Amino acid sequence: MDHIITLNAGSSSLKFALFTAEGPEPALICSGAVERIGRPAANLCARMADGEVIADATPGALQDHAGAIDCVLNLLAGHFPSARVVSVGHRIVHGGPDHDRPILLAPDNLNTLEMLEPFAPLHQPFNLQGVRAAMARFPQAQQVACFDTAFHRHHPWVNDTFALPIEYYEMGVRRYGFHGLSYDYISGHLAETAPQVHAGRVVVAHLGNGASMCGMKNGESIGSSMGFSAMDGLPMGTRSGQIDPGALLFLMQQKGMGAAEISDLLYRQSGLLGMSGLSNDMRTLEQSDRPEARRAIEYFTFRARRELGALTAVLGGLDAVVFTGGIGEHSALVRQQICTDMGWFGIDLNPDANGDNARVISTDTSRVQVMVIPTNEELVIARAALGFLI
Ligand code: ADP
Repeated sequence: MDHIITLNAGSSSLKFALFTAEGPEPALICSGAVERIGRPAANLCARMADGEVIADATPGALQDHAGAIDCVLNLLAGHFPSARVVSVGHRIVHGGPDHDRPILLAPDNLNTLEMLEPFAPLHQPFNLQGVRAAMARFPQAQQVACFDTAFHRHHPWVNDTFALPIEYYEMGVRRYGFHGLSYDYISGHLAETAPQVHAGRVVVAHLGNGASMCGMKNGESIGSSMGFSAMDGLPMGTRSGQIDPGALLFLMQQKGMGAAEISDLLYRQSGLLGMSGLSNDMRTLEQSDRPEARRAIEYFTFRARRELGALTAVLGGLDAVVFTGGIGEHSALVRQQICTDMGWFGIDLNPDANGDNARVISTDTSRVQVMVIPTNEELVIARAALGFLI
C-alpha cells in the first residue's frame, strides 16, 4: 500500500508521522518525535493512531539530526515493512518572499532553499538535512516542501515591511510570519466545521514552545506577530519575543556582546525560561509557587492580550479567538488570564468550559466566540503530499 511520511525537524527535535496515501484524505497510522537531540536525555517515542506505544527508547544514534532521522526511518521500516513510501512531506520553516504554497523538491530548487539558511539558521539547515536524508533513503519518492511562511504571503504590504530604506526590503529584510502550517490547519478546520466563523475576523493564538498570533479575515492571514524571524512578537519557551532594538545596540556597544552571544541570549536563554529562572515548560511554571514563575506567566499573557488588541484593530473588529498549540490547547490558566475582564472587548469566558478545554469556551451571550482547536501540522503536510500524488 502507498504511504506518506511527514518530517518536521526543529532545532533539537524531530517530529514524524506515517500516513496511508489511499483515498481522498491521508489516514494517520503512527506518529512520534525525537526530543532533546544531541543531549544525554535524547528520546525517541512513537505511537500508533490508537495510542499504542511502539517505541519509547534512547537509541545510541541520537547525537545529531542525521542520526535521529536514521533512527526514525529505521523504526518505520522495521514496524511497517510492507509500507511503500511514495512521498515524504517536509515542514520547511522558510520559503522566502515568493512561495505561497507547497512545492515538489528537486536538487535545483533545494539549492534555492539552502540560500535561505541565513534567514533561519536555527531551523532551515535541519529541515534541509531531513530532505537530503529522505532523498537518499527513498530515491523514487516525491519530496514535498511545506513552508511555514507560505500562509502569510498575501499579507497586505504594510504588514510585510519595516520602516527601513527600501533597499533593505529588497535584500529580504521584511516580515515573513511563521507557524503557517498550524494556521492553515485551523483555517481549513473552521471552513469545514464553522463556516460563519471562518468567513469572519478571527485571531488565532498558536501558543506552544514557539508562540505567535495571526489575524485572519475570510480564512486568510492579514497579519502575524512574528516577523523577519520566528523570534518577534510574543515571548516563548526560551525566545524573548519582541525587544527594543535599542536594547540590543546597548548590549553590543556598551556590554561588548557579540552576535553569537546575543543569538544565544535571545533564542535559548530568554522567554519563560529566562524570566522564571526555572523552566521553559508552562506546566512547570503553573505548578511552581515561585513569584518569578508567576511573573513569567503574567508577562506571557500580558503580551498576548496586547497582540490580540493590535490584531483586532488591524482586522477592523473581532468575531472569534481560537487557541491552539500545547499551551493554547491545555492551559486553562493562560486562556483565562488572556481573556479576563474583556467584557468591554466582547469576550465573556465560560469558566467551566475553559476548565474542560472545551471546543467553545465563551458563554452563549459572548459577542466574540472563543474556541480551543487542537492543531495538526502533520495532516496539513500529508494533505499537501497527497495533492501532488493525485
Ligand atoms: P512546540 O512548539 O515545540 O510544538 P507544543 O505545542 O507541544 O510545543 O507546546 C509545548 C508547551 O505546551 C510547553 O510549554 C508545555 O508546558 C505546554 N503544555 C502542554 N500541556 C500543558 C498543560 N496541560 N498545561 C499547561 N501547559 C501545557
